[in-house]
Amino acid sequence: MKIAADRGTCIGAGMCVLTAPAVYDQDDDGIVELLVEDVPPQDAEAARQAVALCPSGALRVLED
Ligand code: SF4
Repeated sequence: MKIAADRGTCIGAGMCVLTAPAVYDQDDDGIVELLVEDVPPQDAEAARQAVALCPSGALRVLED
C-alpha cells in the first residue's frame, strides 16, 4: 500500500503522526513527511485511519 502526502495542503495538525507513527513524521515546520515508501501490512490499518482523520485532506491512499 502506498500513501501520497501533499505537503502543500498539510496544515501540520499532527493527527497522522499520532495515529500511525511508523508511517508519518513531521518536519521542523510541522509538515508531514512519509517515513516509508511502501506501507508494510502491519501498519496499513493505522495509515489508512490517518488518511481518514487528517483534517486538511493532505493524505491519500494511492494503492492497496
Ligand atoms: S494529519 Fe494531515 S494536516 Fe495533520 S500533519 Fe498529518 S498530513 Fe498534515
